[in-house]
Amino acid sequence: MVGPAQERSHSFARSRHDRLAHRRDDPEWLDARWSDPDAAVLVVGADAVAMDGDDLRRVPAAQAPPGERVLLGSVDDRTSLAVIVDQVPPELHPEPVRAAGGRLDATQGALLVHAVGLANWHATHPRCARCGERTEIAQAGHVRRCPACSALHFPRTDPAVIMLVTDEADRALLGRHASWPPQRYSTLAGFVEPGETLEDAVRREVLEEVGIAVTDVTYAGSQPWPFPSSLMVGFFAAARSASIQVDGSEIADARWFTRAEVRALTGSGSLVLPGLVSISRWLIEGWHGDGLSGTW
Ligand SMILES: [Zn+2]
Repeated sequence: MVGPAQERSHSFARSRHDRLAHRRDDPEWLDARWSDPDAAVLVVGADAVAMDGDDLRRVPAAQAPPGERVLLGSVDDRTSLAVIVDQVPPELHPEPVRAAGGRLDATQGALLVHAVGLANWHATHPRCARCGERTEIAQAGHVRRCPACSALHFPRTDPAVIMLVTDEADRALLGRHASWPPQRYSTLAGFVEPGETLEDAVRREVLEEVGIAVTDVTYAGSQPWPFPSSLMVGFFAAARSASIQVDGSEIADARWFTRAEVRALTGSGSLVLPGLVSISRWLIEGWHGDGLSGTW
């Protein structure tokens, strides 16, 4: 069996920033931060971020491009601000968010997913869901308010379950999406439906995708994945049978792998696992027991 306690952490797992929620409605304090010549501002779009080598680029507030101003919080008493833009200007060295995120330390990674989650939400929720009026940003970027009906709208997070299933022989079940290249395999995953517990979602998704009933659904850890708005909730689960019947639409193939097979196949390149940034990879390595080669 696999234990949930694993020393190695996946990306975006350990937030160290104080979100300063009590300051979001303090315009004087916010104005002072934005006019502070030493203030450092991240520049973030829905799918790109300004980078400075392997670090987030921080620009003086006076030089930040126009956009929605948000407060991320503070790290070691240093305030972190961000400007959300439609497009990161080329002179600020934009990079795709996922590629950049994989190179950041835990603190910067947490700031990035906070900012990107807000950027994606603002980009796709410009109007009031109740009356259709155009909404206004409030609470330093963490609320949208409707001027017509006064409704307050909060950033949404969509929970998804992701699970490493093992059988009696302690083999791992990995599947391949229909749209993926032939060598690419990963843990199963799916969105939680209304009225469903996380554990129910694990059992339903595994049954739907590969026809296997699972038991002993055990929480392992979670990972914000704001592309656009997911929270990946990781589990281990035990299969009650080994007979696989793939659904044939979402999942094209699924197989049981021993540790030796995973090691040999990733080494030869005939099995390609998820990237190191993902909780899927973390679950697989938690089962496997040590580092593996092969990423995408
Ligand atoms: Zn409204």
